Amino acid sequence: MKILSNESRNSRKGPEEWFTGAAWIEEIVTAEAPARVRVVRVWFEPRARTAWHTHPLGQTLHVLAGVGRVQLKGRPAQEIRPGDTVWIAPGEVHWHGAAPGQTMVHLAIHEANDRGVQVEWLDHVTDQEYDAPLG
Ligand code: MN
Repeated sequence: MKILSNESRNSRKGPEEWFTGAAWIEEIVTAEAPARVRVVRVWFEPRARTAWHTHPLGQTLHVLAGVGRVQLKGRPAQEIRPGDTVWIAPGEVHWHGAAPGQTMVHLAIHEANDRGVQVEWLDHVTDQEYDAPLG
């Protein structure tokens, strides 16, 4: 057993290659093999979002605070709120982030595959894509 205190948590800014706007990523747990689960808490400022990406083994998002958006490629973005849980299936192209006037905090839970890959990054989400009408 290991207790990871809140004070000892690693916090890093989401790199510009993968994020638009400011997002802070806090490590909740990176389990040691043979476990593969990884959990991070991500804070997005208003309009901040990930780039388009996929997860080889899928991902669960759970909204803790604020108002967010999530979009699956080819469909309109949808609003997500505290208590909402989103399951992203393996290989689905998507992005997630905060709403225009609101911050958003979510937990992201996913597993790394045999090569240690948990995410495959694609293009940034343009303002045109971000500002498109919600579904
Ligand atoms: Mn994702």
